Order: sequence, then structure tokens, then C-alpha cells
Amino acid sequence: MSDSSSNGVQPVLQARDVSVQFGGIKALTGVSLSVRAGEICGLIGPNGAGKSTFLNAVTRLVTHGTGTITLYGASIEGAKVREMIGLGVARTFQNLGIYASMTVIENVMLGAHHQLGGKFVQAIFIPLRSWREERVARQKAMAVLDEMGMADVAGMMAGSLPYPLQKRMEIARALASEPKILLLDEPAGGLTHGEVHEFGELVDRVRRNRNLSILLIEHHMGLVMGLCDRIVVFHLGRNLAEGSPEEIKSNEAVISAYLGRAA
Ligand code: ADP
Ligand code: MG
Repeated sequence: MSDSSSNGVQPVLQARDVSVQFGGIKALTGVSLSVRAGEICGLIGPNGAGKSTFLNAVTRLVTHGTGTITLYGASIEGAKVREMIGLGVARTFQNLGIYASMTVIENVMLGAHHQLGGKFVQAIFIPLRSWREERVARQKAMAVLDEMGMADVAGMMAGSLPYPLQKRMEIARALASEPKILLLDEPAGGLTHGEVHEFGELVDRVRRNRNLSILLIEHHMGLVMGLCDRIVVFHLGRNLAEGSPEEIKSNEAVISAYLGRAA
């Protein structure tokens, strides 16, 4: 396994030898993965490979056993889940994590509020106490929605949006916290072929505009191969392979464990 720090540039995110166990289930056994500044790193592998668990470990939703996870060289051990956003880490969830009965802009403001350090519940329900913070958060949220091509639906109930726009809104909320690294867990699930293409272009544009680092978990191979600078493959909770899209496409171990012959 190549060590991504060997080129002398410190990765944004570096996980080494990370293990996570749920009771008797070893979800991750000594995995290593790093994300470099400004790159889109793909994380692929069969269902149950431990991809979501890895994101959960990086965002402190689960506690890893052995191994180290660092952000810009500093260990995240001891950080609370709510502190990760302040450390520049934002994510979306495999299953939508949206508030259906709130408007789109309110959902996105959740991200901006985190970034401002405000208490969202207080800001929404006691607007007089924090009207200035509210206004700043609203402006930020609107700017992100505009960047995501969603300004026209800002006032709609999130639950009434078509599914692809709900997924996109979740990314907008993550971006509202102005992260350094964005972790996307199957963001293109449920999108049609045409929507996937458009979505890929959007993610690439956002990455370039913001000089963002992205870790992308996705099963849609057209998207992964077209978008990612580098791909890491997990299988059965372990690293299986790492390389460029071309290398991964032709890797025999990856083909037999995951991609199949047709890929
Ligand atoms: P992937 O995202 O690659 O499909 P997951 O990370 O969701 O894989 O799951 C990896 C393994 O860990 C699976 O066997 C899954 O059942 C198990 N697992 C994940 N989360 C939990 C949990 N909270 N409790 C118990 N087992 C879990
Ligand atoms: Mg998953």
C-alpha cells in the first residue's frame, strides 16, 4: 500500500491502521486511507465493506479501536462529534439526513449556524436574541443555494423537493459550514443517468471553486471513474487496492471482489 504522505505534502485527512468493532463484528480491520488537498478521493467496495463505518469513525460517530486518524497532522481522538464541523469536516449521509418539514433554506442554515458557532434551535425559535446571527446564516445559506443552482427552491418545504434535489440540498448544508473536507456517502444513489452526469459536473465545480478536498463513497462507477483523482477500495473491512481510476478498473482483485468483468 502506497503511503500518501511520501510525496512530502501533508494530507488533509490521514487514517492509518484503523479498526472498528461492533460487538463481535469487525467492521474495519487496520484500514489506511488519506485524502490530499484539493483532490477527490473515491472510496468504493461491496456493501458491508466498511465504507460508511469509515466515515463514521472520521466524524467521531463511532470510536475506532486501534489506529490513528489525523486532520492536517493533528489527531481527532478526543474530539466530540459536534466539534468536527469546526475542524473543517462536513458530511452527507447514505440515508438522507434532512428536515422534511422545514424549508430548504432553513435546512441549509443548519450548516451555516454550526459554522457560526450558534445554537441552531435557539436561533430558529428565539430569533430576537440572535437576529444578526440569523441574518448572516440566511445570507450564507442563500449564497450556497445559489452556487448549487437551487436559489429558486429556497423557500420550499424540503420534503416536497424531488429526491435528487433533496440530496443536493444535503450537500448545500454541508457546504454552508465552509468545510475543508467534504465526506459524501453515496450522494448519487437514486439519480438517473442524466442526473448523475449533471451531479458530477456540479461536484467538480464546487471542488475547484472552493479548493475543497472530497472523499466520495459511490457505487455509480461512471461517476467515480470520471470524477475521482484516486480511488481506494475496501473489501470485508480491509484495504483491497488503491490507485488511479485506470489502475482500479484493471485491478484483478477489484474486478473479482467488486467490479465484475463488465466494468
Ligand atoms: P458499507 O458502507 O461499506 O456498505 P458499513 O460500514 O455500513 O458498510 O458496514 C460494515 C459492517 O459493519 C457491516 O457488517 C455492518 O453490518 C456493520 N455495522 C455497521 N454499523 C454498525 C452498527 N452501528 N452496529 C453494528 N454493526 C454495524
Ligand atoms: Mg454504506
